[in-house]
Amino acid sequence: MRHFAVVGSGPAGFYTAEALEKAYGDQARIDILDRFPVPYGLIRFGVAPDHQSLKAVSKRYDKVAESAAVDFVGNVMVGRDISVAELLDLYDAVILATGAPHDRKLGIPGDELAGIIGSAEFVGWYNGHPEFADLDPPLGGEHAAIIGAGNVALDCARILSKTHHEFEGSDIVSHALHALDRSAIRTITILGRRGPHQIAMTPKELGELAHLEAAVPVIEPHDFPPVEADDALEPGLRKSVGLLRGFADLEADKAKRIVFDFFAKPVAFEGDGKVERIVVERTVLDESGAARGTGETYHVPASLVVTAIGYSTSPIPHVPFGGGKFVNESGRIGERLFAVGWARRGPTGTIGTNRPDGYEVADQVAAGMPPGSTGDRSGSEGLKRLLTERGVMPSDYDDWRKIEEAEVGQARPGCPREKFVRVEHWLQAIGR
Ligand code: NAP
Repeated sequence: MRHFAVVGSGPAGFYTAEALEKAYGDQARIDILDRFPVPYGLIRFGVAPDHQSLKAVSKRYDKVAESAAVDFVGNVMVGRDISVAELLDLYDAVILATGAPHDRKLGIPGDELAGIIGSAEFVGWYNGHPEFADLDPPLGGEHAAIIGAGNVALDCARILSKTHHEFEGSDIVSHALHALDRSAIRTITILGRRGPHQIAMTPKELGELAHLEAAVPVIEPHDFPPVEADDALEPGLRKSVGLLRGFADLEADKAKRIVFDFFAKPVAFEGDGKVERIVVERTVLDESGAARGTGETYHVPASLVVTAIGYSTSPIPHVPFGGGKFVNESGRIGERLFAVGWARRGPTGTIGTNRPDGYEVADQVAAGMPPGSTGDRSGSEGLKRLLTERGVMPSDYDDWRKIEEAEVGQARPGCPREKFVRVEHWLQAIGR
């Protein structure tokens, strides 16, 4: 028998557990640890609430969690309740699947002003992450800006633009829905430091902007290179750029506008105690394709700024860390210690990208300790003993089901669940 600990219950964690379970069958026991008593990580806290079809992938994860070889161990934080070194004593291999939950910082003057929010915070706020329940983003001004030209920027722009009615069927949390209902924001400017050919936006997500009830995307045709230049793009990007070009033909006849501003690099934020405007420098592309400032600056008004420029992983004491992720070689951090998903390769790719990633690391684990081989680690038994000594009370998958049942039971009409946004509400639901 082999014992494995997967730390983190987002997509990367679940795909790795699935791969280990497939490789070892009943020759292994796999514990998926999470600091929260609710599973799914990015699926619950990161994927947009109006993208329910993407969230449905959690059904596949449920199958993994329900298999005899796998246990969910919630409410346990690695690095606080137990160290990685202790996990390595208890388990044959430890796989870190802790994602990338922190915002990268712009690091420009004024970025400490109130009203400037990282996308992890903003997305966490509307998705019911307990650490951001009190964020209270300023929605009282007319102008908001989003920095970055990726899919997270699109998610944030769409959520700021939708009407109450358009959130039907989503699981946006009530506090965000009510705040957005009262929002005075009319212009959302998306600032891309490079051009339309350098966007990191995918066609499905871009296409949605053209069909919003009360908002319309606006774009200046002069930002585009000649249309023939699109031929050299890979097909997905070519489609995205085609959609962007199409936005130039739309009538800006709706109450809200999502304005794309390309070749626009923020260089400072200004305001009296809170952000009021962004100082933006025009850019051109240099020979390497990077944005180079031209010295020409202008102001973009904004009383809310969301920076959507990428994420970094949380360091864990004594685990080598650099460049916003764990230092690893093809997923291997050290002896019996691995990383998968965004903790391994940084915040890139889709949810599905984590599947081959998890399977590859599971293959490496299996190469080092082939199925059928045995070890002498105590696995979950030892873990539970140690946590009991420390007064840490883990939760399991049945507990999660109770939380889920309570959330579904409290859902408002047209919403699949009312997510609890306080840790104490999760704990109440499981009788703690
Ligand atoms: P991303 O795709 O890496 O995009 C980050 C954007 O920020 C880029 O446009 C980048 O510009 C810009 N940026 C970085 N540093 C900057 C700076 N200092 N100043 C100005 N701009 C800066 O990251 P993301 O949008 O956070 O998405 C993370 C991952 O999740 C991606 O793989 C994304 O596709 C995925 N995701 C998918 C979905 C979906 O499928 N529905 C939804 C959300 C997220 P440069 O290109 O110039 O560096």
